[in-house]
Amino acid sequence: MQSDSRPYAWVKSEGQKRLATENLVPGNRVYKERLVSARGTEYRVWDATRSKLAAAIANGLEAFPFGEGAKVLYLGASTGTTASHVSDMVGPGGAVFGVEHASRVAREFLERVASFRENVIPIMQDARRPAEYFSIYGKVDIVYADIAQPDQTDIAIANCKMYLKAGGHFFLVIKTRSIDVTKSPKSVISAEAAKLRGTFELLETIDLDPYHKDHALAVSRMLP
Ligand code: SAM
Repeated sequence: MQSDSRPYAWVKSEGQKRLATENLVPGNRVYKERLVSARGTEYRVWDATRSKLAAAIANGLEAFPFGEGAKVLYLGASTGTTASHVSDMVGPGGAVFGVEHASRVAREFLERVASFRENVIPIMQDARRPAEYFSIYGKVDIVYADIAQPDQTDIAIANCKMYLKAGGHFFLVIKTRSIDVTKSPKSVISAEAAKLRGTFELLETIDLDPYHKDHALAVSRMLP
């Protein structure tokens, strides 16, 4: 079931091969996703139309540091769809610090995800003020940012400078329509990627079409 050493799997569901993660909390669903049992293990089907990280995997993402024990700072946790799959992958020895500023969705994140998963730590704060996070400790292995703000890249870089360890991975979802509706998605993506120069080494940029129109995922590593 497991695809080489990757922390996700491809399982058979409704006659098709589908991306899935091993359920950290068996029997528990987060967003009405399908549960599939295979060889005594329960998996949660991971829908690429609901999650940009799943879409990136479907489109050939290569860098994948979300293994057992990884510590992740997740900006824009929303109700926790993707964060819950990250929680499955990093397992009991890992941690997902989920930052969300909108109180209604943050409450759902707490009720649906954090209350069932010991490795998920909700941070109800504005990602523009990383110095005010109350529960994050030490440095993290990965910063994942999906906050759909015009200045999202600058906000995420400020978080990396404070919390990401040297050599750590930075996953940046670029929603081109949130940044500049007048420019072509391609030119927005290259302008945002250019902001990484000097601090990060860009590893790959994945177009998330057709799952998420006008979105890309830029993956980079923090330089020492
Ligand atoms: N990553 C989520 C997923 O895949 O399940 C979806 C994230 S949604 C596109 C963007 C989220 O970022 C929203 O829930 C929004 O409230 C949150 N957000 C936007 N600006 C923020 C900020 N400055 N601080 C914290 N959260 C923010």
